[in-house]
Amino acid sequence: MICVSIACGSHKRMISELAGLAEEGIRLVELRLDFLRKMPDLGRLLPNRKVPVIVTVRRKQDGGLWSYDEEKRMVLLRTAIISGADYVDIESDIAAKIPRYGKTKRVISYHNFEKTPSDLDALRDEILKTADPDIIKIAVTPKSVGDLFRLFDFMKRANAPGTPKPTVVVGMGELGMPTRILGKKYGIPFTYATFSQQRIVAPGILYYKTLRDGYRYESINAETEVYGVIADPIAHSLSPLIHNAAFANAKLNKVYIPFRVPSGEAAEFIEKAPGIDVRGLSVTIPHKSAVIPKLTRLDPAVEEIDACNTILFRSDAVFGYNTDYLASALCIETAMGGAQGDSSPIAGKQILILGAGGAGKAVAYGLIKKGGRVTIADRTVEKAEKAASQLGCSYCDWDARKSYVTNIIANCTSVGMYPDVDQTPIGPESIRNGMYVFDAVYNPEQTYLLRLAKQKGATPISGLEMFIGQACLQFRLFTGEKTSASMIRALLKEALAMSKS
Ligand code: NAP
Repeated sequence: MICVSIACGSHKRMISELAGLAEEGIRLVELRLDFLRKMPDLGRLLPNRKVPVIVTVRRKQDGGLWSYDEEKRMVLLRTAIISGADYVDIESDIAAKIPRYGKTKRVISYHNFEKTPSDLDALRDEILKTADPDIIKIAVTPKSVGDLFRLFDFMKRANAPGTPKPTVVVGMGELGMPTRILGKKYGIPFTYATFSQQRIVAPGILYYKTLRDGYRYESINAETEVYGVIADPIAHSLSPLIHNAAFANAKLNKVYIPFRVPSGEAAEFIEKAPGIDVRGLSVTIPHKSAVIPKLTRLDPAVEEIDACNTILFRSDAVFGYNTDYLASALCIETAMGGAQGDSSPIAGKQILILGAGGAGKAVAYGLIKKGGRVTIADRTVEKAEKAASQLGCSYCDWDARKSYVTNIIANCTSVGMYPDVDQTPIGPESIRNGMYVFDAVYNPEQTYLLRLAKQKGATPISGLEMFIGQACLQFRLFTGEKTSASMIRALLKEALAMSKS
């Protein structure tokens, strides 16, 4: 069940938001009384409610805003119980001072904003023994992939059949965010979500509509298969949006989670992922090469490009693929009129690739496979040289890119990416009528480089098509089924437009 936290400054607004949530069918709401600007008036807030509420008055030390003294807080909590609140959140250290009364249930909570303590079971046992809980809440802060998986293990143990009281386990912050979604799989009684995207009441908390509609939280169960993306940073990844929509569209019991995995921790993540039923992963910056030693079976492209962007876990094997190279080659080929039988319009064309990073090598590999004559330029010439020798193509100095005579230019650097939208990796003087100009950057969809290409009579090819293509190929690998490229295109365009509004 999703518990929506309402945290606003006025009683009137809190009452109206509570009523709105009840109408929407939300089944549990947390009232964060510490956010109210005036002394909370339970006589106004609790009567006539149409949905059960948890009354919470969080202290500053636990991430709250309560500004009156502790005695007033205790009085408020006791009053909430006497007034018949459905649940009251009581921090474990004060539980002995707030007696049980009537039908009000006790959520006994523990918060740690610094770390994930090593003795989570001991913490829970102590609460069970001393604090008379109906529900236990343990909210801690994972600092590493190891902490995240320890939290998942604890969540499973703490809610295994036969445990005396259920435990809500929350991993705070970006690293812990997956616990807020996957708890449902392991039987936690509810997860917290925020009422508004603008009001972040706890680190890593999700907007309730994202959780409900995007991740289909209420339909997650023990059988739900887990997919996701590993990256750092992760916050702006659009992959969860598109893969969850594609899973929903195909009515599959699968969920796709953004996992922030810090640099150097990808190998540990791959080892532990099957423990939480992860069946497939998208892999992006900075892990595309780092995951390779953990693969037991790999597509030859992964070895040649030295980059893996898709992982499948099947029984004891870990398969690695690269869908970037196929997607980029296909979208450029399509823009050039498409293949005629075995003959690709890319064959024999001179191609200048700008950037020898993960995208540059994948695009180069795909175009070489299509018979293109590829030259790579990178501002770090050693990287261009290394990539060219790996892939069996040419390279040139970064400055030489300007005068290079070519049919296709492919930008595979991050130059021109939002917010630096007025940048281009190559000037208009190098673009000629009749050329094809591909830009791997897809945010914005129409980059400055693509606009220059259009002005000069060249054909612009957006990286959005590559992104859609690689996502469709990944979906195929994840599920064995096709998905709708036009649905993904529409979702991405909407999300990119909203990110700038
Ligand atoms: P990466 O491995 O980190 O490589 C980044 C590349 O950009 C390197 O070649 C780097 O040069 C170059 N670069 C960065 N800033 C530069 C600057 N100011 N001037 C010149 N070159 C600069 O990243 P990646 O995975 O290849 O991604 C590159 C871009 O492609 C990103 O914008 C990413 O979003 C996009 N991409 C798109 C898709 C898609 O589906 N459309 C897929 C993958 C990536 P150095 O080597 O000198 O550092």
